[in-house]
Formats: sequence, structure tokens, C-alpha cells
Amino acid sequence: MNDYVKKDLKYIWHPCAQAKDYDDFKPIVIEKGEGVWLYDIDGNRYLDCISSWWTNTLGHSNKRINEAIKRQVDNVEHVIFADFSNKPAIELAEKLVEITPDKLTKIFFSDNGSSAVEIALKMSFHYNMQMGNPRKKRFVTLSGAYHGETLGALSVCDIDKYNEVYKPLLLETLRVEGPDCYRCKYGLQREVCNAECFENMEKCLTENNEEISAVIVEPMVQGAAGMRIYSPIYLKKLRELCDKYNIHLIADEIAMGFGRTGKMFACNHAEISPDFMCLSKGISAGYMPMSAVMTTDKIYNCFYGDYKELKTFIHSHTYTGNAMACAIGVENLKIFEEDNIIKNNIKKGELIKKLTLEKAEASKHVGDVRSIGMITAIELVKDKKTKETYPWQMRVGYEIYRIALKKGLLLRPMGNVLYFIPPYVINEDDIKFMVNTCFESIEEYYKRTVDIM
Ligand SMILES: *Cc1c(COP(=O)(O)O)cnc(C)c1O
Repeated sequence: MNDYVKKDLKYIWHPCAQAKDYDDFKPIVIEKGEGVWLYDIDGNRYLDCISSWWTNTLGHSNKRINEAIKRQVDNVEHVIFADFSNKPAIELAEKLVEITPDKLTKIFFSDNGSSAVEIALKMSFHYNMQMGNPRKKRFVTLSGAYHGETLGALSVCDIDKYNEVYKPLLLETLRVEGPDCYRCKYGLQREVCNAECFENMEKCLTENNEEISAVIVEPMVQGAAGMRIYSPIYLKKLRELCDKYNIHLIADEIAMGFGRTGKMFACNHAEISPDFMCLSKGISAGYMPMSAVMTTDKIYNCFYGDYKELKTFIHSHTYTGNAMACAIGVENLKIFEEDNIIKNNIKKGELIKKLTLEKAEASKHVGDVRSIGMITAIELVKDKKTKETYPWQMRVGYEIYRIALKKGLLLRPMGNVLYFIPPYVINEDDIKFMVNTCFESIEEYYKRTVDIM
């Protein structure tokens, strides 16, 4: 075994992984990245079609971003953000206010996605306290929601795998059965429905609005639930109802912001302006930990006053407004504009979808292909007719992931859902390799496991 691997196993506790898996499958040590490709210390390469956990926008080791970091590090790397500021943070703030929905005029920086969610929840509650509504302290979340894994963020998650053990520690939230278009209970197609499933939300908000501070959603796509895509009509209805009942709408755009869905922000599909928008992942092009919460003048102004009135939002993370991360964010957005990233993505996304659909039709195991912008997901099922799924203990996705790695493709399935969410610099040849290799791996898995099925 390579020395690095040995030391890795000796010292490091990896996230979202069971160490026992490493008994026969060692962590892969990456030495270099270039565009969509990652190179390990043994000289193997892997196409990073999941953008290293949905963060990378413009490819690994992007020349322009690298230059931006080098320029910034020679000026200043980091500076305290209370009472102080820095040029890149100010430039990024101005740009984000310009490109996010209308009512979002103020930005609060932080350093990871979960923290951004915590900040939005706390600000919403704190606002209501100040407005004389201390009863408004509950949060509404959708089935299948994922918003991060610190205790507050985990409270508004609805994925057992992440929160089951910690339930005794979590806030009590209101869970609403949300959209699930592949297994639609109304038997409707996403493209033509009127978000009939919104009736569950309507019922919840009508009955509990006096206690509700905010509804939090992942707009358009519930990522960790298996890239569940839903209708923008749902978001339009939600915006209206939140307004009616004085409830904040928190849009968690941490995964879907910065062009993933074919528009700059997922909220743009529904033309809504949330009260809070959480941003992270793509905000710093996948280079550095960074996040932000955007909010409105109305909320910001409510916090203006004296310390003794409890008006101050005392929440800080040490690396808030980090100058290097902000410099990356500024360059990232410049490249988006100058290289017409969103427009070019639409063509790439369509090609990925087309090739995936062709392959899926020929496969006995693919129940659903869902796609939006630069995301295409494949759901494997036991039975296409009944849409019956596999028990998670079978680890179907995980086994396919291991097969694909040997072929040079880095997938990171969620249960039985495989998906592509590649860096935007992916080219046509890479797209073909990605789709073909994924399906080869699926077929190989089924050939191998035919006995136990
Ligand atoms: C990744 C993610 C988070 C959490 O971000 P971290 O930086 O991992 O804490 C929250 N919400 C969504 C939708 C995400 O995809």
C-alpha cells in the first residue's frame, strides 16, 4: 500500500463514509486536477461528473481563478470582518445584489452552507421576536429536504440517514409532504401539473401560521433526496401564501445556485424573490469554503437600533468575508458573464439529457431520467411498472460507483439515484465518456449480481 494511503487510514476520519468500507477499498489520493479531470498519485484519472460535491463550476485548477487567487494573496489573505471590510467582499456583495432577485439587497457572509442555513433561521426568528411575535418560532420543511448537518440545519432536514440518530437534539419542525414527481400521488406530469401537491403546504400554513417563522425549501430541485425536480408553480404558490400569512420564505440555493438548473438561480424559474437566499458551493467556484445569506431591506432595517433592545444580530464565524474566497467569487462571476456560461450550459445540458435518455430506454433497470439545466439524474428501480425501489442495504448505487471508478468516472450516487452535475467546462467527448461509462457500469453491476436478484 502506498505510504500516503497508509497514513490517511491511520490519521483521518472521512466524512459521509463508513471506515469499514476501506478494508477492501482505499481512499483515493488526488494529486492534481485539470478541468473536469482528477489525477491520483498512481496516475489514474477520473472524470469528476459530480463537481466534487456540487461545488466546482469552472473546472479544477482553472487558470483565471488561479490567477485571481495569486493576485489577492499578495494583497491580503484574510482580515477581521467586524468593523473591517475588504475590496473583494465589497465587489462580490455588489455583484450578488445585482444578479439575485429584486428584493434581496443585503448580504451576510459566512463560510459554509450549513452556517448559512443557521443564519437564515436565526434571522427569521429574531426578526419575529422584534416584531412582537415570539410565538412565531417554528420552521416548515419539505419531505426529503436537505439543508446541512449542524444541529439547526439538521433540524430542517428530512432524510433519516442524516438525522435519525440526532432527533432527540433537534428543533421541532413542521414537516410537509412535498412534491415527488416520479411517484406523483395525483398521477400528473411535472410539465403540465398545477402543483396540486401544494395542498399539503396550504393545509399546514393555514392551520399553523401564527406559530410559523419561515418555510425553507430547496427551490426547483431537492438535491440529496435524489435530484427530485418539481414545478416552479409550487414556488409561486408558496411565495403567495407566505406573503398572506407573514411567513418568511427561505430559498436554500446552496446547491442549485450559480447556474446548475440552467438559470443563474433556481428561484428565477418561478420569478420569485425569497426573504432569505442561502448561497454556498458554486459561490466560490468550488475552491474555498464560503457562503452568504442574502436578505431584504425590510429585514435588515428591523435590526437597526441599540444593543439593549436586542436588535443586534450577534452571529459570527471567524472566516466570514474571507478575502481570498471573495476574490474567487468575483472572478467566477466575471467568467460567467464573459464566457456566456449559462447559455452554453443549456446546450451541454441538453446533450447530456439526450444521450442519457437514449441509453435509459435500452436499459431494463432505469425507472426515471429527470433533468434540468446541467443536472441529469437516473433512478434505478427493481420494477419499472410498480417503480419499486431497492432496499438501501443492497447499496446498489454504491456498488456501481465502485465499478465506475475503475473505469475512470467519479459518480457519487444517492441510494439508487445516479446523477451527473459536472463542471461547466465539460466538452462533448467528456460528456459521451461520462454517459457511456455510467451505463456500462450499471450493466456490469446487473450482470454480476444476476444471481442474487
Ligand atoms: C451542501 C448543502 C448544504 C450544506 O452545505 P455545507 O457547506 O455542506 O454545510 C445545505 N443545503 C443544500 C441544499 C446543500 O446542497
